[in-house]
Amino acid sequence: MENNSTYTISKFKAATHCKCPRCRTGKIFEGGMFRLKGQKMNKNCPHCGLKFEMEPGFFYVAMFVSYALNVAEFVTVCIAVSVLSGGSESPWLYLTACLLTAVILAGVNFRYSRVIQLYWLTPNLHFNEKYYGAAYKKRS
Ligand SMILES: [Zn+2]
Repeated sequence: MENNSTYTISKFKAATHCKCPRCRTGKIFEGGMFRLKGQKMNKNCPHCGLKFEMEPGFFYVAMFVSYALNVAEFVTVCIAVSVLSGGSESPWLYLTACLLTAVILAGVNFRYSRVIQLYWLTPNLHFNEKYYGAAYKKRS
């Protein structure tokens, strides 16, 4: 059997590792996900030079994705709290759990809302194999 395809990282794996959607090699973010000094996003892909914020206000859509992620997390946490507390009816317990979740997962939501937007909600942005991996050298 002939196999001409070169190995490339899968879309899902590239997204979970926050890699650039065009080359799947360069990092979208600098630093760690849970760092306290705030999240820092690269303006351009360090590998292929893709400009992540394609137009002013591009990441407003990520706000809605972040909202959806938060709602999903709150529902999950509230169900977990209800099960673990034996069906407690105290609203403060649920509110505290939701607020803690929002604070703890703020970095995760920030990153993955933008990653989801770049990978699945930007129709004209696709993976291009010619940029993938160490073989591609950016012309400066
Ligand atoms: Zn790139």
